[in-house]
Amino acid sequence: MGKRCDVVVVGAGLAGLAAARSLTARGLEVLVLEAGDAVGGRIRTDSVAGFLLDRGFQVVNTAYPEVRRRLDTQRLDLRPFDRGLRVFADGRLFRLGDPRRDPRALAQALRAPLGPLRGRLALGVYAAATAALPARWLLRRTDEPALRAWQRRGLSEPVIHTVLRPFFAGVTLDPRGTTSSRFVDLMLRVFVRGEAALPDAGMQQIPEQLAHGLPTGTVRLHTVVSEVTPDRVVTDSGTVHARAVVLATDADAAGRLLPGLTVPRWKGLTTLYHAVDGAPAPGAATLLVDADRSPVANTVAVNAAAPSYGPAGRTLVATTVLHDDPHAPSTEVEPSVRERLATLYRTDTTGWEHLATYNIPHALPAMTAPHTFRRPAEVGGLFVCGDHRATSSIEGALVSGRRAAEAVTARLGLPTAAPGASAQGAGAADDVRDR
Ligand SMILES: Cc1cc2nc3c(=O)[nH]c(=O)nc-3n(C[C@H](O)[C@H](O)[C@H](O)COP(=O)(O)OP(=O)(O)OC[C@H]3O[C@@H](n4cnc5c(N)ncnc54)[C@H](O)[C@@H]3O)c2cc1C
Repeated sequence: MGKRCDVVVVGAGLAGLAAARSLTARGLEVLVLEAGDAVGGRIRTDSVAGFLLDRGFQVVNTAYPEVRRRLDTQRLDLRPFDRGLRVFADGRLFRLGDPRRDPRALAQALRAPLGPLRGRLALGVYAAATAALPARWLLRRTDEPALRAWQRRGLSEPVIHTVLRPFFAGVTLDPRGTTSSRFVDLMLRVFVRGEAALPDAGMQQIPEQLAHGLPTGTVRLHTVVSEVTPDRVVTDSGTVHARAVVLATDADAAGRLLPGLTVPRWKGLTTLYHAVDGAPAPGAATLLVDADRSPVANTVAVNAAAPSYGPAGRTLVATTVLHDDPHAPSTEVEPSVRERLATLYRTDTTGWEHLATYNIPHALPAMTAPHTFRRPAEVGGLFVCGDHRATSSIEGALVSGRRAAEAVTARLGLPTAAPGASAQGAGAADDVRDR
């Protein structure tokens, strides 16, 4: 493939695609080289027996600022899960809702087995204040392990260990609460302000939408990059010369291609999908968090929110097991999960059809406190992006891609503000800034 272009982007995950979109919008000729057989990186969707199975259950939040800026969320046809949570703790199931939207939520919170009333009020105040404050204020709070921050803020032990820790374990994949409290606060903010949702045609629609906005021929699949320098990349099918190279791979590949780069550890999970006869039950679109000692972190009926994920008259249940959970089975995951689901859903699960298990040891870069929210885009003459350079999320990947593109355009002497892009892109907290 001997070729010359303005910018080569290595990797067609969200970060690489976001960078490529910004760069092509500046009129630059861009080539995106992707090792895999499709765009999306860690966001891929399989079609299995009439069901849509994301390669690891994940959701996009409608309050992510960069998502709102960069994606056509109308066209994604986002289908939200119910707000609130179902929590299984000490053998009991209870619901926590959002009192602003559901009049029953207050009574439910009062009945919830969460210790003294004071503790529940403190949870309400913490959530409301975190949602109301500007993101840049949250980023000024001390960054410490989330568990310590909750304790320091006076949240009660029952609230922490029954609600906050188990819920955020499913978000950060960290059951111990060592993740950056700033990140956890930012996530709480988007969960209160927005909705966790799925594109009705599967999560892969997100990267596909970004890729469709690129000029034809920009993305080249099945192309493994083995070597990078500031002005060329070597692939298995030849060398490409460029004025700038953007490394938009996952953290491990970035570390291999650019020795000396800071790369975090990984957090892993396993998602199990089961098909159940019958349409989703009422209320099944609310995430169920398992706070007891069990292999399950959380579970939900996916097509209760996004109907296209399953055929009519059947329910698709996604269940998450965290690799760092001491109660997670090391082998034979499915039987113990199926047994636990019988307790959580109060039903006989022996007839449930096991559709697939996705074991993903490299799901999220760890964000142990204190976390650097903005790593430099330019390293050793190359431009680096990916969730490991910002926050371990869809939002973080998109933001880091835009930042890398801004750094490239600045280096090439082009005006930095692309049409429709943020003029404040250089702000330290721009991954979480309000629109
Ligand atoms: C199971 C799971 C659940 C998640 N849940 C959520 C969630 O609920 N909410 C949320 O916001 N985020 C979630 N995330 C995180 C989110 O999906 C990621 O942060 C984001 O997709 C990362 O995008 P990226 O572009 O940084 O990296 P990647 O998606 O990893 O893309 C990197 C790309 O580089 C390519 N590549 C690597 N090496 C080479 C090479 N040598 N040559 C060419 N190409 C190469 C790879 O094939 C890949 O396509 C989840 C992730 C997983 C896996």
